[in-house]
Amino acid sequence: MIITIDGPAAAGKGTLATALSKKYELAYFDTGMVYRAVGLEMVLTGVSVDDETTAEKYAQNLTFEKMSELSKHPDFRSNVGAQAASKVSALPKVRAALLKMQQDFALNPVFADGTPAKGAVYDGRDTGTVVCPSADIKFFVTANPEVRAMRRYKEFVAKGIKTSLEKVLGEIKERDKRDSERASAPLKAAPDAICLDTSEMNAQEEIAAADVFVQNFLFKNSR
Ligand code: C5P
Repeated sequence: MIITIDGPAAAGKGTLATALSKKYELAYFDTGMVYRAVGLEMVLTGVSVDDETTAEKYAQNLTFEKMSELSKHPDFRSNVGAQAASKVSALPKVRAALLKMQQDFALNPVFADGTPAKGAVYDGRDTGTVVCPSADIKFFVTANPEVRAMRRYKEFVAKGIKTSLEKVLGEIKERDKRDSERASAPLKAAPDAICLDTSEMNAQEEIAAADVFVQNFLFKNSR
């Protein structure tokens, strides 16, 4: 079973992907990591994030091992990493170079420790539209920008990162705009995606709402 979960930053994709991957014993691919890895490598090597040739080279050489190594850097999850990811992800050659790695995972999904899984949950922006267009279940998760900013702000505070709610809201809106307006694989719901607005839902409510569709899919396919 392949499940895709797309949507803007801090909409609740990661929460849902983690819960569904645990419940159904599926591998989890957070595809934002591939763009964060390339973006961070550009930043760390002092290359402009607009340099498509270098970004393409970094993307072509990306491996899961390298991504895991880069993910330990403090800026991997910071706004520096997020903005760099959003900028390199708008470069068509970078997206093309990272597509196969993402698609191959669906053919051979594995858990973090390398053991094989029977399927995967993808989390990203274009996983239902471009990466896995024939996924079994597609979700498009959204929430209003103010709610998403508050969630991200709380995460930063919990990690001891100093910022303000206004700043986080501005950063989220900037990323939303770039991700939705780019020419290559813009953020949008697949025509057959189930849309969930989590603005007024807590994590349990979101998971329960999505799980109804998964149960329905499994029931239909068990007959
Ligand atoms: O999901 P996350 O915030 O980690 O993603 C970082 C950035 O990577 C996004 O803002 C987006 O620009 C890019 N991205 C993408 N396609 C994906 C996943 C992430 O363009 N499938």
